[in-house]
Amino acid sequence: MCLRGRCPDFTWLPLSASLSRIPLVQRVATLSESSASPGSSGLTASAPEISVTIPIYNEQDNIEPLYARVSEAMNALGRPWELLLVNDGSRDQSEARLDAIAASDSRVRVIHLSRNFGQTAAFMAGLDHAAGDIIVPMDGDLQNDPKDIVRILAKLEEGFDVVSGWRKDRKDAAFRRNLPSRLANGLISRVSGVHLHDYGCSLKAYRRSVLEGVKLYGEMHRFVPIFAAWNGARVTELEVTHHPRIHGESKYGLERVVKVVLDLMVVKFLFKSSGKPIYIFGGFGLISILISAIAVVWAVGLKLFAGVSFIQTPLPVLGIILFALGVMSILMGLLAEMLNRTYHESQSKPVYRIGRIVQSDRRMSEA
Ligand code: UDP
Ligand code: MG
Repeated sequence: MCLRGRCPDFTWLPLSASLSRIPLVQRVATLSESSASPGSSGLTASAPEISVTIPIYNEQDNIEPLYARVSEAMNALGRPWELLLVNDGSRDQSEARLDAIAASDSRVRVIHLSRNFGQTAAFMAGLDHAAGDIIVPMDGDLQNDPKDIVRILAKLEEGFDVVSGWRKDRKDAAFRRNLPSRLANGLISRVSGVHLHDYGCSLKAYRRSVLEGVKLYGEMHRFVPIFAAWNGARVTELEVTHHPRIHGESKYGLERVVKVVLDLMVVKFLFKSSGKPIYIFGGFGLISILISAIAVVWAVGLKLFAGVSFIQTPLPVLGIILFALGVMSILMGLLAEMLNRTYHESQSKPVYRIGRIVQSDRRMSEA
């Protein structure tokens, strides 16, 4: 599997030492501590192969049915699994309900973030603490169907590293959600060169190896298959069921489209120019200064040979603006070069802060 070796260009994603460390610790913890609770299938004797990770933000009425459906689907699979529920600073009854589930089933681990950090940070928290070699993220609002996990994993076994869900028959508001999402998906496909129909579908399956070193900011969880594909992973998609939201409400509105576009620019820029920002900023700056020089020469020519005064054309103003823009762009390129070095050389830090972690009868850490 290609990671950094085959893709030297991809070094802008800092390798997170903690990512590879934590799962090992967790794996040992899971091995030694897990004891099947009454009613559990007893599969916890071995380390989990599959980690289902779910972000939870004000989903109090979804939590219990979600847990029931996920455990039903995963038990049917017959492979050791764990469920990581990441409470992203919920302000309803989610916290207590999650704790109750963690207390009753040792395959469930609840990670309470200290406040609301957003879905992407919650995804990262789940990823950093997952012990399985296969990571299956999904939403906590029951819009994804846990039964699809079995199909998605079967697809993964066909020889893929990433299987991305495709909500072909999406059950969200047509104009406010589905249309912008279709446009955004088309744009992301085009810009990234990775062709999926539905980046926004949370239900996916990843082999851990393709996620190593992935660090996400903003709302970039939907771009993970792109990072993986750029890293050489074999990515495919599979149609999945989508249900309308019954309890609670969506945390997003139309502003998400703007964020997607901006995040996409960041991803594309960092990937394409991580080692050479001065070429991009500097190139733009030099072109700008060149056009500015042409404009000034033209204005002087007009004045000398045609008697046209400087204030009769926009050329002098254009020349000054483009010159200033060019100089600033070159300076920004130099700054970007400095930042680039800091970015690569500084210690990588997680994008979230954990309040506490709960697993069965044991409190693993306290903030
Ligand atoms: N979510 C989260 N933090 C947030 C917003 C959302 O953990 O700040 C979770 C939410 O609880 C759900 C998932 O992310 O499990 C998807 O959110 P939502 O259903 O609102 O998104 P939509 O389906 O409308 O795209
Ligand atoms: Mg939803």
